[in-house]
Amino acid sequence: MLINKKFCTGCGACFNICPQKAIQMKLHTDGFLYPEINLELCINCGLCKKVCPLENLKIRKSKKTAYAVIHKDEEIRSKSSSGGAFSALAEKVIDEGGVCFGAALVKNNFVRHISCENKEDLGKLRGSKYVQSEISDAYISAKTELETGRKVLFSGTPCQIAGLKQYLNKEYENLLTVDFICHGVPSNALWQSYVKYKEKLNDSKVTAAFFRDKSYGWKNFSMKIEFESGDSKIERVHEDLYLKSFLSNIFLRPSCYNCRFKADNYLSDITLADFWGINKINPAINDDKGLSLVVANTAKADEQLKNVFHVLKSYSINFESCVVGNPSYSKSVSKTLLNSPALKDSVRMDFLKLYKKYCGMTLWNKIKRKLASKLAQ
Ligand SMILES: Cc1cc2nc3c(=O)[nH]c(=O)nc-3n(C[C@H](O)[C@H](O)[C@H](O)COP(=O)(O)OP(=O)(O)OC[C@H]3O[C@@H](n4cnc5c(N)ncnc54)[C@H](O)[C@@H]3O)c2cc1C
Repeated sequence: MLINKKFCTGCGACFNICPQKAIQMKLHTDGFLYPEINLELCINCGLCKKVCPLENLKIRKSKKTAYAVIHKDEEIRSKSSSGGAFSALAEKVIDEGGVCFGAALVKNNFVRHISCENKEDLGKLRGSKYVQSEISDAYISAKTELETGRKVLFSGTPCQIAGLKQYLNKEYENLLTVDFICHGVPSNALWQSYVKYKEKLNDSKVTAAFFRDKSYGWKNFSMKIEFESGDSKIERVHEDLYLKSFLSNIFLRPSCYNCRFKADNYLSDITLADFWGINKINPAINDDKGLSLVVANTAKADEQLKNVFHVLKSYSINFESCVVGNPSYSKSVSKTLLNSPALKDSVRMDFLKLYKKYCGMTLWNKIKRKLASKLAQ
């Protein structure tokens, strides 16, 4: 291991940079990927240490401007998690002959970073997947595109953007980076276990999943699962067991409880989020169909936003007031002592049993959860 497991975000910068291919991202017993060095191949060049965003934390105090935005295309907005800000930015890059990198559900429902070059494929990136996306060699591919002079939009969690920036190690005029206010990420292993549970329950393969379906509204969002049989199931956020386990904060990657990429440490050009606090600022613009909070962290972001405002309804908002309603902007979720046993169980237990053990609403479970959070503080 390069760095204490508790802090490693699995951003994959070390894996991408290693000239000897001596680093592999290996699946650990907690269900997450961590870099491991093959000492027989390692030539001690030290690049993996130099590239690690945690070993080289950067603080960026910049003037920020904030907007509430809604994509004017209602079809796009309905398929986006919040107001569809990401799609507006990505479509512009594609219109200019560029390429967009982001998280998609790929074969067998794994969540992985892919690249898209046309608007039809952008649908794969649209919408939040509440799973840590495997970055694979996306930084290498992005650099190859950047070096040709092509426009690149790279989107990901704040720690993935920090990984990309460290990997590139120089500013590119043709790069636009987009992250989001991040609650934390569960593993692909937990997600796979839920998919299996759903397949067994419905006796059919899962063919698509939408973590932020808006059939019952934006605030009261749902998980929509489509099956090979042609059936589909929609369960609201307070009914679906995966969304409930995500929001219980028990199954997140250990580093998410002490995230170093919040507040002044967002390294992206643009940070997106759900504008949850809008009712305290301007309730008239909330029609419960989705509203994005867009924070421009750099001058490049301001420029790029000017180019897409014509496809958006946008409202300028005081930056300080908009992050008040979204505590994850500056704070990690609270630690719980249940995290470590829950993650170990997540790779070996049936999903329903796991859910009942850690998230079930029995009196004993409620006491256990309270105690585990208190003792972890
Ligand atoms: C794991 C996770 C946690 C989040 N936590 C919060 C939160 O606490 N508060 C909040 O306000 N907003 C949170 N968001 C962001 C929010 O859900 C929306 O993604 C954001 O508002 C942008 O919405 P949009 O409508 O503009 O675009 P959308 O089309 O919904 O956004 C899609 C973009 O998100 C990227 N993306 C989707 N899933 C992942 C993933 N697993 N890893 C990396 N990138 C991904 C895609 O690549 C694409 O660029 C979270 C998102 C994720 C994925």
